[in-house]
Amino acid sequence: MIQKLLKRARKIVIKIGSNTLAKEDGTINYAFICDFAAQCAFLIESGKQIVLVSSGAQVAGLSTIDCWTRKTDIHYRQALCAVGQVELMDNWRTAFANFGLHIGQLLLTKDDFSDEHRTLNMRNTLFTLVDEGVVPIINENDSVSFEEIKIGDNDNLSALTAVLWNADLLILFSDIDGVYDKNPKRFPDAQRIPVVENPAELRRNISVEGTSDFGTGGIATKIDAAEKAGAYGIDMILADGSAPRALASLADGSGQGTVFIGEETWRRTHSGQ
Ligand code: ADP
Repeated sequence: MIQKLLKRARKIVIKIGSNTLAKEDGTINYAFICDFAAQCAFLIESGKQIVLVSSGAQVAGLSTIDCWTRKTDIHYRQALCAVGQVELMDNWRTAFANFGLHIGQLLLTKDDFSDEHRTLNMRNTLFTLVDEGVVPIINENDSVSFEEIKIGDNDNLSALTAVLWNADLLILFSDIDGVYDKNPKRFPDAQRIPVVENPAELRRNISVEGTSDFGTGGIATKIDAAEKAGAYGIDMILADGSAPRALASLADGSGQGTVFIGEETWRRTHSGQ
């Protein structure tokens, strides 16, 4: 099913979580970024359009100014994101340049999605970048966001982006290869759920707890994202970004994950198409 969804999708939003972008020592994993850019370039070459949502600004900031590690107040956290965002984008820029691809940065807040004019401008910018073969890379504008205007996690940001851009498919790359009935990091007998038709029902039936080291949302926000995207007919896949050839393996059918089917795919599946 995953391979079929990727084959059918032309416009794909891909979100990469902080844990996937960070090495165990807390620095940005440039080798991963290069490898991931290569896989994106291959898909773009084959006719797909890609928008990335990349976390990792704070991780990149911490590894750049490591004497700020213990500074936990909000001003330092926001300042770290300002430093780290540049580092992060520099990594993506050089990685995509290897394939002759330019990137464009959009830093967004919740306000941007509730203001009609800003929404229209964002949408136009996204369409223009993609039409011109540039890879847009989106992140929450953590240096200006405070509680009231924060989306709070990039899972929901990527779902809002997918809806805004009329994407066909949303892929969330995390450090886990799908949703399980309970946290597989704590319970070795946890069972992976391959397909989800009803995110609300899933939420009621599984146990979700905590995030990984640098994670922010956990599984709960991934289910929220599936619900948001699914309501607009956008399918979502949750897969392990650190798996070898993570993106390419989903496209060739060898990769695994949890598929959340959107309303359109649900209709097709149930009418036997
Ligand atoms: P990311 O930074 O990629 O967004 P998070 O750390 O926010 O990732 O969320 C993924 C983590 O959620 C996994 O590492 C896993 O330990 C934890 N988790 C908790 N409950 C579940 C569950 N029911 N199924 C899968 N993962 C779960």
